Amino acid sequence: MAHPSHHLQTQLIHAGQPKPRPAGAVVAPIYQSATFEYRGERDYSQLRYLRLNNTPNHQALHAVLAAISGAEAALVTASGMAAITTTLLGLLGAGDHLLAQDCLYGGTLSFLSEEAAALGIEVDYIQGNDLSSWARHLRPTTRLLYVETMTNPLLEVPELEAVVGFARRRNLLSVIDNTFASPVNFRPLALGFDLEIHSATKYLNGHSDLVAGCVMGGGTLINQLTRRLNLLGATLDPHACFLLERGLKTLALRMRQHDDNALALARFLEGRPEVARVNYPGLESHPQHQRAQRLFSGCGGVLSFELREGITAADRLIGALELPVSAPSLGGVETLITRPALTSHAGLTPQRRAALGIAEGLVRVAVGIEAAQDLCADFAQALEQL
Ligand code: PLP
Repeated sequence: MAHPSHHLQTQLIHAGQPKPRPAGAVVAPIYQSATFEYRGERDYSQLRYLRLNNTPNHQALHAVLAAISGAEAALVTASGMAAITTTLLGLLGAGDHLLAQDCLYGGTLSFLSEEAAALGIEVDYIQGNDLSSWARHLRPTTRLLYVETMTNPLLEVPELEAVVGFARRRNLLSVIDNTFASPVNFRPLALGFDLEIHSATKYLNGHSDLVAGCVMGGGTLINQLTRRLNLLGATLDPHACFLLERGLKTLALRMRQHDDNALALARFLEGRPEVARVNYPGLESHPQHQRAQRLFSGCGGVLSFELREGITAADRLIGALELPVSAPSLGGVETLITRPALTSHAGLTPQRRAALGIAEGLVRVAVGIEAAQDLCADFAQALEQL
C-alpha cells in the first residue's frame, strides 16, 4: 500500500493498487465491462458505467496520477487533446477570456483559434518570457492563464514562477501542459499551478502504443472536469488504462535515461562543427538554463538543432541515421527524429514559423532510452556523410 510520504518511484508502483487484490492477482486485471451491477447509487455520476470514467481501471489510474503529481484528484482521458479540451470547456464559457502562451502545441492553438472562438471563448497570446507585457492583455472577463513547461520545438522555459504569482494576484486559474517534463522532472502543483495536464501518450505511457491524456489538481476542479468529460464522452478504454498503468510503473527509470541521453546527445551535437545551434535547457548555453536547473530535476528527452548547411543537410542527416525513426511524437523508448517544418508545424506559414524562431531546417530529436554512446556514434557517422 502506498503512503503519501513515499517517494514518487514507490508511488508509481504501489499507488492505486486494489486491496484486497482481485483473486490475489499481483497485476490488477482489465475490467472490460461497459456497465456494472446497480448497488443503490442515488447520483447519476455514481453509477458504475464505462463512460462515467469510474471503472476499477480508471480509479487505479486516478489514484496513481494524483499521487505522483501531489494532487487531490486526477482524471484520465482518451487523449492529450481530450484532457486539454475538456479542461478548457469545463472551466470557460461564452464571454470568458484567457491568456495563452503564443507557441503552444499545434492542436491546442487550433482548438483555441477555431473551436473555442466559435463558442465565444476569447483568447490573447502572451510570450512566456515577456512578463511585463502580460498585464496589458488582461480584461475584466479574463479567467485563466495557460502555458506549457517547455515549448516545442525550441525548448524555451517560460517564467513559470511568475505565471503562478501573476495568476494568483488576479484570481485567475493557472493551467500548465506538463507533457515535456513529466511529473518526474517537474511538479507544477507544488509550485502553485491549479491544474496540470499531460498527453499521457508520451512519457507517462512511454511505449508509443496508445493515445491517452490526464489532468490533475484540486478535488473540486477535477469533479467539475469529470462531469464535463462524462458528457463529452472522451473516455479512455479499459485496455488502454491497463497499458498506461503498466507504462507508468517504469516512468521514473525511463525519465532518468531520457534526461541523461538527451544531455549527452545535446553536448555531443554542440561540439560538432556541422551544427550551428542546439536547443536543450540542460545545456549551459540555453537562455533559460538557470531556471531549468532551479525548477526541474531533469530536462527530458526532447532537443532540437540547426545544421550550418540548412534544409538539405537536415534531410540528408535524417536519411543517414540508422537508429532514430523518422516520425513525430515523443516520450517513447525509441528515439524519433523529425523536421518540425514538415510535421508538427507544417500547418503554419514559413513566415509564421520564422516569427516563432523555427528555422525550416530545424531538426527535432525525441531521444529514447537506448545507450547514449550508440546514439552519439550514429549521429557521428551520419554527420560525417554530409
Ligand atoms: N500537448 C503536447 C505538449 C503534445 O506534444 C501533444 C501531442 O503531441 C499533445 C498535448 C496532444 O496529445 P495527444 O496526441 O495525446 O492528444
